[in-house]
Amino acid sequence: MTTIEFFGGIGVIGSSKIMVSTPTARVLLDMGLDIPSDQDLFRAPVRERPGFELRDRLAVGYAPAMPGIYDPAQLDPGATLAWSDDRLTAVFLSHAHLDHDGALGFLRPDIPVYAHPDTVLLEAAIFASGTSGPGSQPELTPMTGTVAVGDITVEAVPVDHDIPGACGFLVTTPDGTLAYTGDINFHRDGAKRSRGFVDRVAGVDMLVTETTMLSFDMPADAPALEPRSEAEILDLSAEAMTRAPGLALLSMYVRDVDRARRLIAHATAHGRVLVWPGQSAALLHHFGVEGVTTWDRSRPQTPGHAQAVVRAEAAVPGTIRTVSLDAVRACPSSYLIQPDVSDVPSLLDLPLTAPHRPPGTFVPYIHAQGEPLGPFMANWHTYLEWLDRLDITFVSIGSTGHATGEALHKMVTDIHPGVVVPIHGFRPEALQVDVPRLLPEYGASYTLKGQRIR
Ligand SMILES: [Zn+2]
Repeated sequence: MTTIEFFGGIGVIGSSKIMVSTPTARVLLDMGLDIPSDQDLFRAPVRERPGFELRDRLAVGYAPAMPGIYDPAQLDPGATLAWSDDRLTAVFLSHAHLDHDGALGFLRPDIPVYAHPDTVLLEAAIFASGTSGPGSQPELTPMTGTVAVGDITVEAVPVDHDIPGACGFLVTTPDGTLAYTGDINFHRDGAKRSRGFVDRVAGVDMLVTETTMLSFDMPADAPALEPRSEAEILDLSAEAMTRAPGLALLSMYVRDVDRARRLIAHATAHGRVLVWPGQSAALLHHFGVEGVTTWDRSRPQTPGHAQAVVRAEAAVPGTIRTVSLDAVRACPSSYLIQPDVSDVPSLLDLPLTAPHRPPGTFVPYIHAQGEPLGPFMANWHTYLEWLDRLDITFVSIGSTGHATGEALHKMVTDIHPGVVVPIHGFRPEALQVDVPRLLPEYGASYTLKGQRIR
């Protein structure tokens, strides 16, 4: 009999791990880093111990006890979790966000990992940039169409999110079908992919869906706000850049490569060069983005940045352009700078203080889903204090990568599954639909009809 287990994404935004098993095969959908529901024990100033990341996470309950999944070399000698499972096993990655891919480096090296070709390329770029999750470098196999794992088949079905290569999956087992949205929205760039997903998986036995946007209370009298379009984001960034007589700062998530590409071109159209920290520039260059610019050696960056640039230029033809600190100080109005959030005092290199900046000059921090993401991040308040001290104005122009509550309800109604399983949100119970609903328990086993086995 086919069983389904949920090893993450229960009551938290992210860390989804869905295990579909038959007596002869196992398919694991996503392998994200666990996101603790309380304060993260490993938040700053605590640092993970290199080489002990998996052991330490298992010990405090930040990684699920899944037998035969983890790399024995990263476990304690003789650990029972290191015993192999005789069944064919494969992992399928929906997209390259940490809450979905962050634990891939803990996998047994003999377990194959499949993903959309764009996700495979992006993962290579992330690794070259030195910004991947802990553990070893996972080897990914590009998939289009369907992959068979014993008596289970898995089809990757592209969806719209805010990262290249995002997919949901349609899993067919001897007992029926399961669809998993990954992370999905219905407002970005026309949402053709997401609508294709709805058509492809209509009528599945079990639908596992993310519910990120149901996590947040909306005032009852507030009009239902449509998330900003990419065009509106560009307009707002243009407004801020035009208003700034000198430097403008940007914060966007570099793995959103399409948005990065657009903002590079948009900055150019407004007479500015977008300058990235070395690791971000390396990621974009490695992924094939043209016209990427970073700092030359005149700016003291942490060593990881220079090393990432060297790796990316060795791997991919072409060079990453560079600018000097002097050039930026001489003409601040020609630049849009993405600061390195992990090196906050490096803001002081920039022409943000006297004698480089006349007092009272408007300098925007154009925030489009970059770090720090929001008040839930440990570095949020400190960062805002720095912006405040430097008289930098926070300008929020972002747009969520996740479906609105309304769009989620419509999606479930249109797919009309036998049972819907809301995960990946603080309030999965807020998904109120006209089909049977399962609010699963962490690690428990269910049938495809949503009945609990143990
Ligand atoms: Zn996610």
